[in-house]
Amino acid sequence: MLLEINDLFVRYGKSVMALQGASLEVGEGELVSLIGQNGAGKSTLLKSIVGIAPVYSGSITYDGAAVTDKKFSVIKNRIAYVPEDRGVFSSLTVGENLRLGAVSRRDKGNIDGDIERELARFPILEEYWGRGASLLSGGEQQQLAIARALLLRPKLLLLDEPTLGLAPIIVDLIFDVIEQLRDEGVTILLVEQNAVRSIEVSNRSYVMQAPGKILGSGNANELAANDAVVDYLGFS
Ligand code: ATP
Repeated sequence: MLLEINDLFVRYGKSVMALQGASLEVGEGELVSLIGQNGAGKSTLLKSIVGIAPVYSGSITYDGAAVTDKKFSVIKNRIAYVPEDRGVFSSLTVGENLRLGAVSRRDKGNIDGDIERELARFPILEEYWGRGASLLSGGEQQQLAIARALLLRPKLLLLDEPTLGLAPIIVDLIFDVIEQLRDEGVTILLVEQNAVRSIEVSNRSYVMQAPGKILGSGNANELAANDAVVDYLGFS
């Protein structure tokens, strides 16, 4: 497995144990989703992979290396993270944001070609190339954030609720892109509240229940046969 998370506990401050023994695996080329209600601990799990959540115990192994090791570099290991707030640089233009995505890349070859490819994937970014990122709508900023992450040529792409608060047509577009990336073989861990769509497009899904426990996992059929999961997600 490319990513292996085992019995992970994350504690904020003295009292909030946001993850309580979560385990999850992502194989190379897989699209895996992590679904569950608000506050379940989904974002915390992604943050722990990129080193911005306080891991209390348990292990996170990426390509055989311990992520919690001080020497582990998220960028060098080509892990791209798109946070829930998208994290675009609002004082920069669309083009500058995209170029920044490739800055920390070791292989500098064909960055222009990669930018062209992402502009073809997200035509609105080509149209708004010189526009300040702060002037973009939420859906446009989300496209920019994903395109920028892809310019790292990620071996693992972490997406935190990429469709949150977006209009239905943009939600469709983002899910289309996620399917496209899956078909291109990009390894993705997707955090989503849209359980039905996520289970549909993913190879496997994990269902997380507060506080920070995995309730069940599997493909669509396996989840549909899991009573605890069906009860929690409220599927009929
Ligand atoms: P959402 O969909 O609302 O983002 P989530 O499933 O991603 O939910 P997390 O954001 O990981 O959940 O939060 C898990 C728990 O940890 C919640 O109880 C939340 O209040 C708490 N929490 C998250 N970040 C912090 C923090 N920096 N300090 C203290 N508690 C936190």
